Amino acid sequence: AKARGRSAHCFFDESMTQAARERLEIEARLRTALAQGHLLLHYQPQVDVATGRIEGAEALVRWQDPEEGLISPARFIPVAEASGVIGPLGRWVMHEACRQGQQWRAAGLPAIRLAVNVSPRQFQLDDMAACAAQALAASGLPAGCLELELTESALAERPEEMRQVLQRLQALGVRIAVDDFGTGYSSLAHLKRFPIDVLKIDQGFMRDIPASADDMAIGATIIAMGHSLGLTVLAEGVETPEQLTFLRERGCDSYQGYLCSRPLPAEQFAQLLQTQQSA
Ligand code: C2E
Ligand code: CA
Ligand code: CA
Ligand code: CA
Repeated sequence: AKARGRSAHCFFDESMTQAARERLEIEARLRTALAQGHLLLHYQPQVDVATGRIEGAEALVRWQDPEEGLISPARFIPVAEASGVIGPLGRWVMHEACRQGQQWRAAGLPAIRLAVNVSPRQFQLDDMAACAAQALAASGLPAGCLELELTESALAERPEEMRQVLQRLQALGVRIAVDDFGTGYSSLAHLKRFPIDVLKIDQGFMRDIPASADDMAIGATIIAMGHSLGLTVLAEGVETPEQLTFLRERGCDSYQGYLCSRPLPAEQFAQLLQTQQSA
């Protein structure tokens, strides 16, 4: 990476900041990685709180760089968004998650739902309903097995356009989840205006449960509010048995977190699903 970085520098203006140069370098390498098949998905179980069974998986993208190893999305998703590479990258993620989900179904593994992250920029670059329809058709995955995760900020930008796209997704049978709920500039009006199925409580609220009475109050309120609106509520970042007990007592529907499993490579995730089936 060092050598490549240095040779790339001579193309850039001297006045360009180090950060901007780094961004351009990552962008160029990311396009190559996408073309050469160096991106992959890891899968984190989504677990039913009451039964402990895996009911879904969130697909999380990783970049397997031949020199640097596994690169986290925190490092390249922002660059992908700023440069527009998120368009092709996002389409690849959608197709790959659907392909993998259908392969697991065909292999006779327990039926699960696949959750795919979609950033606000993707809604500007692409018709997400058409993109989902294509991925479903190409893979053969039933629409009811696909869920899209979007953040509150995605809903806030161009709300009318967003409502129409989400309605078309809902008409297809695809589920919609609001990611990182409770952070950002949240407006409860969004929950009424958009066809939403799932609230994902941000992991920041789980971290200090049960120590923080405030976080417990917020968590309990989100669960109750979600339920009164007819939504499914999932808690993210669940790491301890005490946190799970809290969620069970409050009637939260599902959870994700290290307590069950970290995001896993496809093969290991399939093994975990298989174990559950034979248990
Ligand atoms: P996110 O959608 O909020 O995903 C949850 C993040 O929390 C993941 O980080 C996951 O590995 C981590 N996590 C899961 N369980 C626990 C836990 O118990 N404790 C803690 N501390 N962390 C936990 P990851 O995989 O590094 O992804 C980071 C972010 O990158 C994601 O946040 C998402 O916003 C973005 N991202 C990942 N994949 C994609 C993608 O395919 N498309 C887009 N647009 N964004 C993606
Ligand atoms: Ca997510
Ligand atoms: Ca999240
Ligand atoms: Ca997040």
